[in-house]
Amino acid sequence: MSEPALLDIQTADTRVDLKGLLPEELQAFISTLGKERYRTKQLLAWIYGRGAASFDDMTDLSRGFRAELSERARLSHLTEVLRTRSSDGKAVKFLFALSDGLQVESVLMFEKDRRTLCISSQVGCPLDCTFCATGRMGLLRNLTAAEIIDQVLAIRRELVAGDDDLTNIVMMGMGEPLLNYDAVTRAIRLMGLEMGPCLSAKKVTLSTAGHVPGILRLAEEGLKVGLAVSLNATVDEMRTRIMPINRKWPIADLLDAVRRYYRRIGRRVTFEYVLLAGENDADADADRLIALVRGIPCKINLIPWNPIASPGPRHQRPSQARIDAFADRLRASHLTVSVRYSKGDDIGAACGQLITNPQEGRG
Ligand code: SAH
Repeated sequence: MSEPALLDIQTADTRVDLKGLLPEELQAFISTLGKERYRTKQLLAWIYGRGAASFDDMTDLSRGFRAELSERARLSHLTEVLRTRSSDGKAVKFLFALSDGLQVESVLMFEKDRRTLCISSQVGCPLDCTFCATGRMGLLRNLTAAEIIDQVLAIRRELVAGDDDLTNIVMMGMGEPLLNYDAVTRAIRLMGLEMGPCLSAKKVTLSTAGHVPGILRLAEEGLKVGLAVSLNATVDEMRTRIMPINRKWPIADLLDAVRRYYRRIGRRVTFEYVLLAGENDADADADRLIALVRGIPCKINLIPWNPIASPGPRHQRPSQARIDAFADRLRASHLTVSVRYSKGDDIGAACGQLITNPQEGRG
């Protein structure tokens, strides 16, 4: 007779994770404990303001209350695995482990008067753009709101200790934010908390590869987040070749959605345009780009392609002369253009280089 099977049942932690709850949800939790309303504010300040890692850190709460909290609730947090600083000191890449062992990256960028944090929204990405390293991973999973906001909290905690702070957030790390809409918008709301990071939607830019329903939903919701759209090509055939998402939402539909976003939100849109030598960097491309964005209040960020490894260099970065000529052509049509020489390309922290499989990434 065989022995009764020993079931390997993991005792699921049924305690509610307080990180990632919106203020009203935290309030509801606090009232189930029969506690006073001001407790919610105290907790919000600890979790989102001071970035407490555990209830034990919350020293102005009574021991009894902290014990009660630990019984009923938990406070998830990311674990920093690795930190790499670029040689010019202007970018720091953080590798974080999630509770299931998967990893994501965030990049902190130092500019004159800005501290911009680039955060991830998914582990990997399903979109498979040919020029981007993250796409090589495929989608492993969506991040939770707690995991998204915690990239901000963990990094901010340290900056604040050094008398500094974040000024801007860009959702341009791993993943397509609009494919993880609920968690992403929840995290954006938490970033804006006055007693938290206090980074209002004005300070946050969300970048999309062109997920039209997501853009329309953002417009409907009226979350005044900055919108960046990775356009990257001016004709559908080419765009579909490098960005398969274009098959579903071609350029005309995408630009219609962008126009609607602008009408509703009133914020100038950013178009990102990765420059790929011999593919989308000709004068004719610049002229088509000018025509496409006509009438849309926008700025254009040109990103000379950053090399990535595997499956080999299918793309090339244009020469400096070509980059300049392309930018000048747009400027001559009175477009606002900046060329983004990505920070941190020596540490695989530049646009399109984020990948959490150490063998791949930078080329
Ligand atoms: N999925 C979203 C968020 C990622 S943002 C989006 O596509 O917008 C990452 C930005 O870097 C995008 O504008 C993308 O077009 C750009 N990018 C990706 N790979 C790149 C590379 N190898 N070199 C330069 N830019 C790259």
